[in-house]
Amino acid sequence: MSNKRFSLALHGGAGAKRGHDYSIEIAHMRGLVEAARDRLQAGASALDIAVDTVVGLEASGLYIAGKGASPNAEGEYELDASLMCGSTLRAGSVAALQGFKSPILAARAVMEETPHVMLAGPGAIDFARDQGLETVGDPASWFTHAGAFEDNHPPDALPVGTVGCVVRDAEGRLAAATSTAGVFGKRPGRVGDSPIIGAGAWADGHAAVSCTGQGEYFIRTAVAAQIAHRVRFGGEALADAARAAIQGVADLGGHGGLIAVDREGNIAMPFASSGLKRAALLPDGAIVSEAF
Ligand code: ASP
Repeated sequence: MSNKRFSLALHGGAGAKRGHDYSIEIAHMRGLVEAARDRLQAGASALDIAVDTVVGLEASGLYIAGKGASPNAEGEYELDASLMCGSTLRAGSVAALQGFKSPILAARAVMEETPHVMLAGPGAIDFARDQGLETVGDPASWFTHAGAFEDNHPPDALPVGTVGCVVRDAEGRLAAATSTAGVFGKRPGRVGDSPIIGAGAWADGHAAVSCTGQGEYFIRTAVAAQIAHRVRFGGEALADAARAAIQGVADLGGHGGLIAVDREGNIAMPFASSGLKRAALLPDGAIVSEAF
């Protein structure tokens, strides 16, 4: 049953280095949560808040997504993003998108303007251009490659960085959005979990999830859909479902984290990684913003 409580969570990627000062990211994430809270209070939809919050994360240049993107092994910027609306089960995504400021807006356009769910590579680029989405100009001078994130991860790992948002609005609708540059130094054409509906993002009537971490492991365990299905079909509490799913990633040798919200507005943000930059508006109105 719907109640008027709304809540949300956002993340700025798995992986954080002990001793590093994340006060800028923590303040930035808190600011985005406060802005989202005020709009949810005024009746904004879960989908609008999830997308607009990810646009804010992308534009900041503080995380490995949007302006903060890192290049692939050939020095090119191939970005992935996806979103899903829990009340309609509509979804959109782009993979290996090059040359645009906001991959999540391209994903939203795929959902709203085409009969498809996913566009990749040159087809995604042509589509984004046709939609009039804002381009980056010269990639070398636009992208900032946020943070010294090679320092944040053990050398044997696939270093990661992503942003995402999950929302339950006052009408009880759920939505999820995820955007990334993928793992650092990835092979050209490599696609991770972030644009894969059910792996890096999912929303239905029971839960909305956005993941971050070594995407190969999240694809292999269908983390985002798995959590919603554990809640829906297994009757598990969101926190238990989320913890079990991230444990499945860890059991395979992967690392990462996720944010999730259920139909009651409960929030879960477990991680099996060196940290998870994250913030949330909890159902009681409290705001948390932290990296470890
Ligand atoms: N999951 C993303 C990927 O594998 C990376 C990340 O979350 O940082 O592409």
